[in-house]
Amino acid sequence: MFNRGNELLELCENKKLPIWELAIQDEMESTGAEREEILQKTAAAWETMKESFSADDERPTMGGLIGGEAKKLSLMDGEKTILGSAANLAMQRAMACSQHNASMGRICAAPTAGSCGIMPAAISTAAERLGLGDEEAIRAVLTAGAIGKIIVVNATVSGAEGGCQAECGSASAMAAAAITEMAGGSPRQALDAAAIAFKNIMGLICDPIAGLVESPCAKRNASGAVNAMLSADLALAGIESIVPFDEVVEAMYDVGLELNSRFRETAKGGIAATPTGQALAERILK
Ligand code: SF4
Repeated sequence: MFNRGNELLELCENKKLPIWELAIQDEMESTGAEREEILQKTAAAWETMKESFSADDERPTMGGLIGGEAKKLSLMDGEKTILGSAANLAMQRAMACSQHNASMGRICAAPTAGSCGIMPAAISTAAERLGLGDEEAIRAVLTAGAIGKIIVVNATVSGAEGGCQAECGSASAMAAAAITEMAGGSPRQALDAAAIAFKNIMGLICDPIAGLVESPCAKRNASGAVNAMLSADLALAGIESIVPFDEVVEAMYDVGLELNSRFRETAKGGIAATPTGQALAERILK
């Protein structure tokens, strides 16, 4: 039904339908599934996302590089933080998901395990801020899925192929579009938010210490969630992305393909290659 942002936008404008509705129709057309089945599966994914930030994990992670970040953030008075309570909550949830993932908990890879905290954190926080419930959050997940499909068809969501910009960047772009539409933004504004979120992360390399999805990954989930929220607010204010979403996706892929393999999940560059990163890796992997 659509493979590019401009096709999605045209469909939304011609049919006067939101992105989440087109996502359902597209899924029905491409898989033959019934509408109800798609909604049930999306609801199940949303439940998993919520559980993954509510787990309150005490289990150690594989490498022991992260743990307790969400708890520390929750002990702050959100109103007195620099970013405020919404960002504090989103960061808590994003880092809780990352810890849950790194301690082998069940997560929803949205779009990947490494970036699993961004969508749940941004969507749940935005829903609470807007006084919305699960029904609207599930629609937001569908909107995010439509954006994710376009990225997968035209580029990649894999850190090993395109760097962290492809993984956390895609999650952030998907979340930005989702919460923009959930807040009443138009499909065009949702795509603008996704483009802005991508541009803010463009060039980010994949450089996990010891090859484990812990550091710098967990903090990038917190950052990706807040990036989605600020990108949504920019788009909702009427600030457009000067470069359209499709061109931004192409640029992201172009940058990703040019990245040296040291910067694509091999743990041979960036933070992983620092003296501290290497010493930690030696300790963990010995
Ligand atoms: S640094 Fe690499 S492994 Fe970690 S979240 Fe980013 S893409 Fe995933």
